[in-house]
Order: sequence, then structure tokens, then C-alpha cells
Amino acid sequence: MRLWGRATAVRRKMLCLWLLLLGFTLVTLALSDLFNNRRWDHSHQRPAPPRRPLQRIHNAPDLEVFVDSRDPALELGVDLAPLKSLQEDQLLFVPSAQGTKNPAQRKGSYKVLLPGANKDSNPPAPPTQGEMGKVARLQFEGDVEFSAFQKYGFNEVVSERISLHRRLPEARHPECLGEQYSESLPSASVVICFHDEAWSTLLRTVHSVLDTAPKQYLQEVLLVDDLSHHGHMKSVLSEYVSHLEGVRLIRSTKRLGVGGCRTLGAARAAGEVLVFMDSHCECQKGWLEPLLERVAQDRTRVVSPIMDAIDWQTFQYNATRWPVRGVFDWRLDFHWESNPQLQDKDPDSAVRPVQSPALGGGVVAVDRHFFQSVGAYDPGMLLWGVEQIELSIRVWSCGGTMEVVPCSRVAHLDHHHLPYRFPEEQLQRNKIRIADIWMDAYRKIFYRRDTLAHFIRQSENPNITERLWLKRSLGCRNFHWYLMTVYPQLYIPQDRPMLSGELYNVGTGSCADYPRGLGPKGGAMNAALCSGTGSQHCDLNSEFEVRWGPMGALCLDASGERVILSPCPRHRPTTSRLQWKFIKLSGQLVHQQSQLCLEVVKEGALTQSSLREVNGHSKTGGLFLRPCTHHPRQQWHFEQLVAPKGA
Ligand code: UDP
Ligand code: MN
Repeated sequence: MRLWGRATAVRRKMLCLWLLLLGFTLVTLALSDLFNNRRWDHSHQRPAPPRRPLQRIHNAPDLEVFVDSRDPALELGVDLAPLKSLQEDQLLFVPSAQGTKNPAQRKGSYKVLLPGANKDSNPPAPPTQGEMGKVARLQFEGDVEFSAFQKYGFNEVVSERISLHRRLPEARHPECLGEQYSESLPSASVVICFHDEAWSTLLRTVHSVLDTAPKQYLQEVLLVDDLSHHGHMKSVLSEYVSHLEGVRLIRSTKRLGVGGCRTLGAARAAGEVLVFMDSHCECQKGWLEPLLERVAQDRTRVVSPIMDAIDWQTFQYNATRWPVRGVFDWRLDFHWESNPQLQDKDPDSAVRPVQSPALGGGVVAVDRHFFQSVGAYDPGMLLWGVEQIELSIRVWSCGGTMEVVPCSRVAHLDHHHLPYRFPEEQLQRNKIRIADIWMDAYRKIFYRRDTLAHFIRQSENPNITERLWLKRSLGCRNFHWYLMTVYPQLYIPQDRPMLSGELYNVGTGSCADYPRGLGPKGGAMNAALCSGTGSQHCDLNSEFEVRWGPMGALCLDASGERVILSPCPRHRPTTSRLQWKFIKLSGQLVHQQSQLCLEVVKEGALTQSSLREVNGHSKTGGLFLRPCTHHPRQQWHFEQLVAPKGA
């Protein structure tokens, strides 16, 4: 029994030992398999890029990625690997035979082929400098050309053919070439915001700055991506920029719009002077120094170069005539005004800056501290439009000045249409902010000329508390001061009830109309469908002029029996040819010089050529002077679309 018992105990021990051994072996095998598998996995993966955590900048939640050319190894994030981006938008980058080591040096070494383009064909040779002026107007025959034009609002195919380093023909006044500038100018950060800009125009802007700005004054070129969607704006751009010395790229994770994007750039910029520049510009030699000099002399000065134009179709460079200054009208639309009367007889006037009631957004230079202290761009202004008018009124009203510097020239690509869409009301909302924050009682003049803005304002209350507080705390002057001191040339409409509004014709049910496309010099008046938008607003003033247009600078005039618009005289008293008397009882508008009445002459009586649709308005007749009768086609009402009390 005992023997049997001892043998059983030994067998049990042996069994346990075997089981333990088996367990150990299994565990070892499983572990080694696991490790082996891992190794296998790795061998099938691309080596992980040297990843650096995305650099988040404190207190700037809008920032996503920060790429610095001084550290080319800085990673873009795995999800932004170049290969993926190429797949996303199917852009094909063909490196040139010259090699790709230093993109700053290689001229036109990358060619972007759009989907559908014939990949086998050789890219057309870029035109030489001499040929540039002769680039033929492009016929939009191929689909590629047309879709690129639609996408960008300009002829991107021609832009692709032009060197990223093209030099502009000299357009500066000869006296500018001898100008001397201080040797200790402040440093500049050129801030370039972009949203879905074309590759060629964006890179030409960057290279143009690098090629023309003296190194000792150029702190950096700061590219700010305002949430572009196009694939080439992503990692390929980051990669390209990382090779350019002195160029940085930051990206916003939120669409900020022009003003918001520039404010973000300003917060990240290190230079003493900020130069905001559109993402489709080309700089003339020597453009930076005169701007920096003016800002250095007075830190409250905000300055702009003469903005030359690049043709959206041919990319031809067109120099703007000096003198020129920035202005805006009562619909709050901005214009460059080339006005020879601004120039006095002084021989220095070709090189002397001219004060400007407003500056465009294309290029504007401002001291960084002054920009911040005057309230940067209004953060309530979204997407696009009138942020430059708001900045202009604020700078002038709150202690600064603005001027155009003639020895500095930068060309801006004038689009055929904006390359992005946004609701029309957004522009009106931005305008409403200007009206309500800055224009005091004068805002009524704006609302009468922009009825869409008026109706939006009726149903919405913009939050402007902070900006009003800023205005008060900076001790800014009122709009009356601005009009009297800075922009006295702007006509102030009288907008009296019964004597202002749309000029409605009883006989035809249409309104007096001047097609906008005919420009500021004037032309023949028509009757057309009443727009109801404020675009046909006019006022009969105490001088008996009928003032027309958003500037009120055109006057109802007569050329023979044809009623036309012509520029109003600058000096008083006005001539009797421009004077009209409105007889309220009969509705007749009597031309004072001829004593004839304003009448709509219906289409049948017009010549064939004058029957064409003008500017989309279906014209119902022309305006003529006729002997006065009581015919309804001589009966007029001034119809105010906005109640006299205003908004
Ligand atoms: N832009 C931007 N965010 C936007 C809209 C525009 O950063 O939401 C950029 C745009 O790429 C350009 C500048 O702001 O560099 C001014 O816009 P744009 O040139 O379209 O306006 P325009 O010159 O026609 O007034
Ligand atoms: Mn632009």
C-alpha cells in the first residue's frame, strides 16, 4: 500500500514538472511569435518620418502647423505626407533636369500639370522677357484653360509659363532712382495671407519679395494659409517653403478671412514693420526701402506703394499713372483714383508721397506696434471685403495718417472674379460694421444707397460693443471730422424726402438708370427696370443739381436733346446746364437752361444700336429733353426705398 502510495506521489510530481515545462515552452513560443510578428510588420512599413510633435503656439488656437525654413527637418505631420497630397488632387510635379536641391535657385523647374493635360507633351517654353509684352490674348479653347480660369479667376495657364523670377520693366520716375534712404531702416515682415491661391502666382509673389527686398531689411516672409483646400497648398508647399531661407509658413485651422488672417500673421511676425501683401503680387525693384523710410520717420504713418496692375488674361504688367490715391464711395466700395489735380507744380511732386483717404488691401505697410495699438483688423469682419476701408477710417480717425509712396511700386493681379465663393450678405455685413461703428449719422447716406445692407440691419444687431469701446478708449475723432479734413472731396448728399431716391417714371413704370459699366466719366442716361437696391439713387440738391452715383460725382446734364451724366464741377456756382427744377405737383423735371422737360423716349423711337441690353439691365428707353407736356412719360417721383428716419 505504502509502496503503491509512494509511486503515485512520484508520478504526480513528474506530471507537474512536465506540465510546468510545457507551460513555459508555450509561453516562450507565444512571446517569440509575437516579437517576430512585430518585426515582420515593421519590415512592411515605410520607415516612420522623423516626426516632431506639431508645434502648437500658445494662446493661438487657430494655428495648426508651423513650418520654419531654418529647420527643414521639421515635420509636417504624418497625415500630410507629400504622396498623399499628390494623390488627393492629382497634381503632377515634374522636376526639371537641373535638379531640385535648392528650389530658390531653380527657375521654373517645377511644372504643374493639371488633370487631363497631355502628360507626354513637352511643356511650352516660357516666353522670353522680350516676348512677355506680346503674349497673345488667350482664346479659351481647351477645357483645361477654361477650368483653370474658372477656378482662379485669371489665366493660370499663362501664369504657369512665366518665370517665378520674372523682372518687371522699370516704371519708376527717373528721379526715384537717385533717391537716398537711411542706412538704418527698420526690419520688415512681409505677411502674405492666402486662400486657395494658384501655385504659380503664390510662389511668384514669394520669389519676387526675396529677389527685390534687401536682406538686411527683410526679417521674414510670413505665409499664412487661411485654410486652403487645394492639395498643392498643403505638404508640397510646406516642403517647398522649407527650402527657402527667410520664409515661414503658418496655417490656420479655421477660415479667418482677409482681416483675421492678417491679424494672425501680425501676431506671429517679428519684424518692426508689417507689410501685408496679397498672394498674387510682383514687386518692382527698390519697392521696400521707400515704404520703410516713411514709416521710420513717423510710426503712425500707414503707407502703400503705387499699385500697378497685372492683366488677368495676359499677365502683362501695366504701370499705374501717378498721382493716385485710394478713396471709397457712399456704397462703401473702394477705388484707386488717378487724379492729376493732386499733383502740384512742384518739381518734387513726382517723388513726394500723397496723402490718401484710404488704402487698398493689395500692399500696405504699417509699424507693428502702431498696428496693434490701433486695433489690428476688426475681428468682426468676416471672409472678404472692405476691411481695408475700415482700417483706413480707423487709422485716420484715431491718430494716424495714410499715404501712397510713388517711388515704391508693386503690381497686383486684378482678378476677373474672386477664386472663392461666399454669400453676398457677408460683404454687406462687413459694410454694416463700418457704418455703425464709424459713420455716426452719416451712415444713413450709406443705407439709402445699399438697401440690402439696410434690410439686413433691420433684422440683425451686429455685436460692435468692443469696437465702440476701442474707438472711445483711443479717443478717435468722428466721421464729420474725417469727411471735412481727410476726404473733403467726397460729395455729401442731401437726401431730402421727395427730392432724393430712385427717379421713377410714371409713364413707363421704370427708373432713370446709368449702367455702372460706363464708368466715372459719364455717358447717356436710360430708363430701366427699377433695381430697388439703391444703385439708381440720386438727389436733387440745393444747387439744383441732380447728383448721381455712389460718389455723387456725376451730374444730370444735357448734350443737345440727349440727357447724359457728366462729372460735376468742382467749383461753385454750378452752371445752368446742370440745373433742374422739380415741380412736385406735375412731377415734371425741368432743365433750367433749355426749359425743356425730362422724358422717357420709348424703345421704338430709338436707333437699333441703342436698344442693346446694357450691363444686364433691360433698358426700356432713353432719357431726352422734350417740350413740356403733361404726358405720363414726363412725370417723375423721387422714391425713397429707405424710410427717411434711416437705419
Ligand atoms: N484671402 C484669405 N482669406 C480669405 C479670402 C482671401 O487669406 O478668406 C487672401 C487672398 O488669397 C489674397 C488676399 O487675402 O491674398 C486678398 O484677397 P483677394 O486677392 O481675393 O481680394 P482682392 O484683391 O480681389 O480684393
Ligand atoms: Mn488681390
